[in-house]
Amino acid sequence: MTLDFLGNLQRTHMCGELRSSDAGTTVTLMGWVNRRRDHGNLIFLDVRDRTGITQIVLDKEASPEAHAKAEAARSEYVVAVTGKVRVRGQGLANPNMVTGDIEVVGSELLLLNEAKTPPFSPAEDAIANEEVRLKYRYLDLRRVEMQKNFAVRSRVAMAIRNFLVEQGFLEIETPFMTRSTPEGARDYLVPSRVHPGHFYALPQSPQIFKQILMISGFDKYFQIARCFRDEDLRADRQPEFTQIDLEMTFPRQETIFRVVEGFLQTAFKAAGVELGNQQFVQMTYDQAIARYGIDKPDMRLPAMVDLSTELTAELRETLKVDPALPVLGFTIPRVGELSGTARKALVNEIRGSFGDCGLDFLDVSRLRTNEAFVPLAEAIAAKLTAEQIVFNGENFTTEDLAVVITPKPGTPAKWNHDPQWIWKRVGALRLELAKKYADKHGLFTQTGTAADFKFLWVTDFPMYEWNEEAKTWDAAHHPFTSPHEDDITSGRLVNDKGAVRALAYDIVLNGTELGSGSIRIHRQDVQAEIFRSLGMTDEEARARFGFFLDALEYGTPPHGGIALGLDRIVMILAGASSLREVIAFPKTAKAIDLMVDAPTPVSEQQMRELSLRTVTRS
Ligand code: ASP
Repeated sequence: MTLDFLGNLQRTHMCGELRSSDAGTTVTLMGWVNRRRDHGNLIFLDVRDRTGITQIVLDKEASPEAHAKAEAARSEYVVAVTGKVRVRGQGLANPNMVTGDIEVVGSELLLLNEAKTPPFSPAEDAIANEEVRLKYRYLDLRRVEMQKNFAVRSRVAMAIRNFLVEQGFLEIETPFMTRSTPEGARDYLVPSRVHPGHFYALPQSPQIFKQILMISGFDKYFQIARCFRDEDLRADRQPEFTQIDLEMTFPRQETIFRVVEGFLQTAFKAAGVELGNQQFVQMTYDQAIARYGIDKPDMRLPAMVDLSTELTAELRETLKVDPALPVLGFTIPRVGELSGTARKALVNEIRGSFGDCGLDFLDVSRLRTNEAFVPLAEAIAAKLTAEQIVFNGENFTTEDLAVVITPKPGTPAKWNHDPQWIWKRVGALRLELAKKYADKHGLFTQTGTAADFKFLWVTDFPMYEWNEEAKTWDAAHHPFTSPHEDDITSGRLVNDKGAVRALAYDIVLNGTELGSGSIRIHRQDVQAEIFRSLGMTDEEARARFGFFLDALEYGTPPHGGIALGLDRIVMILAGASSLREVIAFPKTAKAIDLMVDAPTPVSEQQMRELSLRTVTRS
């Protein structure tokens, strides 16, 4: 078969554009053959480009030459077609296609390129084998759904850019080849050829640079920045990802919150979701733990309820509950009444998941069967109802599942230096059960409106985290995060690290952390003290961050900022199930790019130039 050249032919329309009002117009479309149906004298080609699909008809009698070419065409061939738009005959319209009312009667067909039979058809839904999708990513990306995801991504990124520029932010690029920026992951390193044995690090974030830009007087910076973190990949992580990174001088936390709320509203609007004036709830880390048992609360469900005061000392003794530790409960709405066996299985499952940590399930419905405990059951139900009414205005009924967790006598008050472990464990159970009964309560079902999105700010995070292995206090955030001013003046910074609060905040959506930021340390003496408090000697701090400590000494304004994961925001807005659906060329869970096949060994010559040698570790 001979292929045609494009010559001077010009496309007049895109494949998703034509409507019945275009009937009679002569058009030229170009794209891929999505499907081909051969009815003998009539051949139908569905031609696809990124905007949609148009049906082309080639009639052997009217255009024998074009018809002959259509006979040779196969799926994914690249074609150009010129013809006249006509309204489809009675009963032949396809209401599932936006162009379904019309077809183009082809008079000329060019076969611009052929295609091997693809390993999967871009005309169909994603195949289950993701490795094959990633290896043939160019075919996978042709699918309508992927084209839509990347259109959303582009619109969202542009909306954020425009918003920030309007707010007076400058977009400034920072280097990829730099030195280590501590964000808690391993660095990707780039060996230097001219300086044997020396390495650049790819940035885990532009953190130090954006702070230096504030010292440089830029006032408001942003960047849609690529970050690189070599960490053990969990399901929803990528070794390189994109952040909307920003920093400003002289902010209060609220100043930053308002900027972020503004761009999120614009970004959601760009994806077709009108958030309106939705309240972004704000709570401290301690409140989040007390009410949700987690630092990224999913507020699409009722909060936890502290039932400690309902269990008097006496009741605790009879029911074998620890005299001092908290009793926590929550409801999962609309689970439906469970049969005796289903309830028993659930209780066993919960008990099993607790192992022997000391926590136990208290069966409220069984309490009701014993007169002595009826008042307790009622009191518990009243408290759960109160919370549920705040949540959705509905009374607690037998359709709702009540979960009450009690600590047995002798349950440890702290676990791994963490006095909040009970709240966290019960909070995790709340999420597990919410997932298990998602079909029943329907609270996670997307309706396409603002109600699907519950945002909140979590503030006042702890400054330090205990590292049991190393027996040290580690920075819970990067080490440039400012502690609360009173925690510095009160001496807590030195005497009671576990109680020091950071001026750090997260923005959370539906139980997912979208981003985090902080007010930074802007004084050299405080920064040096924080490095010391993290167990770094002054020499070590100088060796790693000397340039930054120096910069802090030349008139550093108070400043702060935040970074939000663009990939995650787009994933949510596109309704995608994984970050890989919204990153054009993502890596697998083993950090491999299956299409280009990276990483790979390099030639001896390259290794020699870089003064590198591989050593096989046993
Ligand atoms: N650099 C931080 C991060 O990447 C964000 C920030 O503090 O602005 O998570």
